[in-house]
Amino acid sequence: MLHTYEFWFVVGSQFLYGPEVLETVAARAAEMADKLNASGNLPCKIVYKVTAKTNTEISDVVREANYDKHCAGIITWCHTFSPSKMWINGFANLQKPYCHFATQYNREIPNEEIDMDFMNLNQAAHGDREHGFIAARLRMPRKVIAGYWQDEDVQKRLGDWMRAAVGVAVSRELKVMRFGDNMREVAVTEGDKVEVQAKLGWQVNTWPVGQLVDTMNAVTDAEIDALMDEYRAAYDFASEDTDFIETVRYQAREEIAMKKMLDAEGCKAFSNTFQDLYGMRQLPGIASQHLMAQGYGYGGEGDWKVAAMTAIIKAMAAGKTGGTAFMEDYTYNLVPGAMYSLGAHMLEVCPSVAAARPRVEVHPLGIGDREPPARLVFEGHEGDAIVVSLIDMGGRLRLICQDIHCVKPILPMPNLPVARVMWQAMPDLTTGLECWITAGGAHHTTLTYDVTADQMKDWANMMGIEFVHITDGSTPEKLEEELLIKDLVWKLR
Ligand code: MN
Repeated sequence: MLHTYEFWFVVGSQFLYGPEVLETVAARAAEMADKLNASGNLPCKIVYKVTAKTNTEISDVVREANYDKHCAGIITWCHTFSPSKMWINGFANLQKPYCHFATQYNREIPNEEIDMDFMNLNQAAHGDREHGFIAARLRMPRKVIAGYWQDEDVQKRLGDWMRAAVGVAVSRELKVMRFGDNMREVAVTEGDKVEVQAKLGWQVNTWPVGQLVDTMNAVTDAEIDALMDEYRAAYDFASEDTDFIETVRYQAREEIAMKKMLDAEGCKAFSNTFQDLYGMRQLPGIASQHLMAQGYGYGGEGDWKVAAMTAIIKAMAAGKTGGTAFMEDYTYNLVPGAMYSLGAHMLEVCPSVAAARPRVEVHPLGIGDREPPARLVFEGHEGDAIVVSLIDMGGRLRLICQDIHCVKPILPMPNLPVARVMWQAMPDLTTGLECWITAGGAHHTTLTYDVTADQMKDWANMMGIEFVHITDGSTPEKLEEELLIKDLVWKLR
């Protein structure tokens, strides 16, 4: 996934210093790209492209970047001074994510060596300020990362931004398959699909449940056998009874059929609803869970927004092992000193967040009128995470992100027939809840241990949407003020 994307390193300069300096700049820029790639701290390749000296060179590289499918963004830096009027035409046309890497080739000022030649060659402090002005003047969405390029923390920040930029590339090509509509009467799962496509690139369309049933009927026993082997390799089975195995096999049939339809359309996310299962015997449980484990985004009750966000965040997290899941806030433990949220869903929590090997179980569903479905039951693991919700405010989209700390569930809950995750919301359960409700965050979220709030903020900035972050310093009062100002600002945009 990540290896299909690269980032272009574009270094600003000018002709004033003569060919020797320009050759040195070019050689060093190529060396920096090589060493950054060798560091192991970047998830994607950085490709040195050009030491740009003219308006035409910059416009050309931007045009090339815009049309290159593999280029997920450009990273600029000014080794020397680079007059920024020559960047205006290029920047005005840039459609890819942009990072200004404010660094310097040498770490130290060399006491004996430093003279005016050295100063002309090594003036990032000067050049990066001129370069920064023009992006500010043009109101460009950008990431500024300052620090020495060989330092691990700086490289990791650059890597984190690359993952957010990959999220942009994935978003712009994302297709979401809807089986059925949204759950009747629910508001927060609705949204303007035209606006979302214009803003985020998502193609959100519907396919009939009847077509899924036809596809399910065409699945062969051999295909089901092969998927059952995968289930057995990854999960424990609670029973070997014939009825139990038949139920799991029916889920495998559903998974295979959904995957065929998703792949035929190039969809990386899907939603369904228990209110529209016409011709299906079971609501997909392990079927949806195992698809999520493979990187597909899922949303219950027709929630295509959370399905798409889950797919994007999974793509940003590729190669990481903490896990990313579709999640729903269900119920609270409001005991003083032990205040926790319990998150779960009717069935469909991604096993990537499991603390231990999940178990396949079959239980009746409390709602709906279908057969008891097979599902994976497990506990989420301990660790810092975030929950993310995208809502449609009417005229604009708001991305809400809350810091949480997941704990081992404090109770075994032996009769709860679904996967569960327990967490402490920041700054604490009730204040965090007041903030979340004030911001309008949904009951459905994407929960991720692998992507940070800073990365989601970068992603929101690059997509041009509002971002709200609930942290350990949040209060409802401050948040209300922030939202009031943002309401005004976003009306002006
Ligand atoms: Mn739900």
